[in-house]
Amino acid sequence: TMVRVRRALLSVSDKTSLVGMATYLSENGVELLSTGGTAAALRAADLPVVDVADYTGFPEMLDGRVKTLHPKVHGGLLGIRDSADHVDAMAAADILPIDLVIVNLYPFGETVARGAPWAECVENVDIGGPAMVRAAAKNHSHVTVVTDVSQYAAVMNELADNDCSTGSRLRLRLAAEAYGAMAAYDAAVARRFHQQAGTAFPPVVTWAGALKQTLRYGENPHQAAAFYADVSGGGGSRGVASAEQIQGKELSYNNISDTDAAWALAAEFDPATDGPAAVVVKHANPCGVATGETAEAAFTRALACDPLSAFGGIIALNVAVDKAAAEAIAGLFAEVLIAPDVSGAAAEVLAKKKNLRVLLTGGLPPRDAAAGLLLKSVSGGFLLQGADTAVASSASVRVVTKRAPTDAEMRDLLFANRIVKHVKSNAILFARDGRAVGTGAGQMSRVDAARIAAWKAGETGREAGEAEGARTAGSVVASDAFFPFADGLVAVADAGATAVIQPGGSKRDAEVIAAADERGMAMVFCDFRTFKH
Ligand code: 5GP
Repeated sequence: TMVRVRRALLSVSDKTSLVGMATYLSENGVELLSTGGTAAALRAADLPVVDVADYTGFPEMLDGRVKTLHPKVHGGLLGIRDSADHVDAMAAADILPIDLVIVNLYPFGETVARGAPWAECVENVDIGGPAMVRAAAKNHSHVTVVTDVSQYAAVMNELADNDCSTGSRLRLRLAAEAYGAMAAYDAAVARRFHQQAGTAFPPVVTWAGALKQTLRYGENPHQAAAFYADVSGGGGSRGVASAEQIQGKELSYNNISDTDAAWALAAEFDPATDGPAAVVVKHANPCGVATGETAEAAFTRALACDPLSAFGGIIALNVAVDKAAAEAIAGLFAEVLIAPDVSGAAAEVLAKKKNLRVLLTGGLPPRDAAAGLLLKSVSGGFLLQGADTAVASSASVRVVTKRAPTDAEMRDLLFANRIVKHVKSNAILFARDGRAVGTGAGQMSRVDAARIAAWKAGETGREAGEAEGARTAGSVVASDAFFPFADGLVAVADAGATAVIQPGGSKRDAEVIAAADERGMAMVFCDFRTFKH
């Protein structure tokens, strides 16, 4: 049923498009009620407006903490218009029905994001706004509630088409969106309060998503799916969910998931210390990773790790894409490219690859953003954990063999250790000269992961016309967990690896170390495991 709007209450922090909306209402005979700052903005535009304080007979007080928290406001929002009792009670108390509420809240999320002091964050917890929004949404049979500037156009269209009335469908949808917005707001508040209390983990769940995109389907065509952005402040910045897509078809579920894997790995490499790095991901595992003098060199070297698998892959760079890199990338059929930025000339080159989705993040995620929470669903519940932020350094690892790694081996060991963290377990990775050369991913036994990694490196070398064993001779190996037996270590040694990094901690460490010593290998323990499932 249609409800004619005769009285509206406007109280907004974000005053974007406020005057346009209010002018429209005023011209259509709607009485405007408003709070301090909002009323001032409306008066400045010569619109007739009644101060809520005049309507309630109660001043705004306590530095604005109490503005609209009054029975004449909440009664006007909550009263059931077709209940004789309610109508009588309202009349007896001089409560006027309010048919439309336009409220957006104190900018709590923005205040937290710019690192404002605790007291300022607390002052930006809106109390009266959410109370009005919740009241109006509960009474959506009679009241229209608007909580975001992005909804103004739809509301004005509805009013224009229906003699200044709104339909029940729109009111219900707006009420649902209002509760979602309040949940996200409360989640952001809870998150900041937990941070202050030092009780951020284990967490009371304080996540709230805003629907970003309804996906055509999920991992498979018969699965429904959607993509949400974390709007409660826990998602970190410069991630996949906030990246800008500048070209290409809509992202699919698998695109988004793989792009996230690629981006997380690329972001392991700091351009200032590691130089440009490129990653190619297929089915959530890296099939190419390399650093290089330039973005183009990094990409070309990454592609050479496993060109067979790279077809249809996801590419991530830790630096802006320049023209040379764009030309190299354009030579590969790829689904997605994600990078901090692209140069103008690069954008022109990429534009010719119409199907390539290009995502720009504006920079690398801040290192501590990786400390966000990871969620995994299980039947009837979900698991939460902190992000894996472990990093090894030449000072933190322990040499356990007779021979210590050479400087070149150490560089590659640390490089391989950072990559293997992003490979599904059980994972073994061969690397040499700043690039991955063979990966064994997602195996149920470590020795099989080792054998597959060695075999894959050999196959790729053969296809590239290289000498037998050239890829793995003199390479290093990273293992995401300890070798439970010496067999895995023997397998990588047989392939020509000369140095190994692994956490250690197996009952049979002594056997594994002895096998390495027998073969003149250098081995270091990083003391942390990096499973990824
Ligand atoms: P204005 O700029 O109009 O003075 O204030 C608008 C803001 O005040 C809106 O964001 C609205 O949600 C908030 N607000 C409205 N009533 C109350 C109240 O009673 N208490 C608090 N803390 N905020 C309110």
